[in-house]
Amino acid sequence: MTNQIELLFLGTGTILPSPRRSCSATLLRTHKERILVDAGAGTLLRLRENHIHPLELTYIFFTHYHPDHVSDLVPILFCLRNCSWEENEGHRLRIWGPRGLLNHLRGLEQAYGRWLQNSGEEVKFYELKRRLLDFPGFRLIWGKVIHKNESVGYRFEIAGRVICFSGDSGYCQELIRLCNQADLAVLECSHPDEHAVEGHLSPSLAGKIAEAAGVKKLILNHFYPDAERSNLVEVASKFYSGEIVLAEDGMKVSLPVPATA
Ligand SMILES: [Zn+2]
Ligand SMILES: [Zn+2]
Repeated sequence: MTNQIELLFLGTGTILPSPRRSCSATLLRTHKERILVDAGAGTLLRLRENHIHPLELTYIFFTHYHPDHVSDLVPILFCLRNCSWEENEGHRLRIWGPRGLLNHLRGLEQAYGRWLQNSGEEVKFYELKRRLLDFPGFRLIWGKVIHKNESVGYRFEIAGRVICFSGDSGYCQELIRLCNQADLAVLECSHPDEHAVEGHLSPSLAGKIAEAAGVKKLILNHFYPDAERSNLVEVASKFYSGEIVLAEDGMKVSLPVPATA
């Protein structure tokens, strides 16, 4: 892991239950960081299936607050509360999200009381404000996308590589801008073209975004059952000339890091 970035797809489905696909969650791993993008139902279990303890997480970034993207925040916080922090001295988890994160947290604390509370040093929450954020070891740029009011997409710039996440989104220029020249673009593909739904992407729209942005590899993600029954790659490839991969739970995609990074 010292010379590569790895994406581990923990959940590639939606809220409609599927034995093969858990709700949205993707882990971005570098030699230093364990960055979770969204944490829908099943994330805690999927982490353990992949031999990752929640104490290893360093960041969570939420794209929006639909339950299929955020609902495992409750078990993750409760799990961390029951972990022995002393044995993991120096561990810090920083949880970020768009506007509404602190309100969401207040609601959870009203429902669950102190059972979700960890020490303020160990777990901290932040709402996104500045569009460009420099963290130790990576840069994050976010943009508003078309789905829920607060919905955002993310562009991570790490060690000379660019990895983008649409979250849930319809077709929009902001997503093309975020994905510009990305090494990997993880775009949602909720439904096939014939059942396209406003505020979500279909394979042709995801292909158009990837082509317009000049991304090097397109990973389609977040499939409702009708999308699973459709030939998404064939449709997307009519609009995008690069490599297309369908995400699966447990799938890993690695990017080598340039030697100088
Ligand atoms: Zn959503
Ligand atoms: Zn969703």
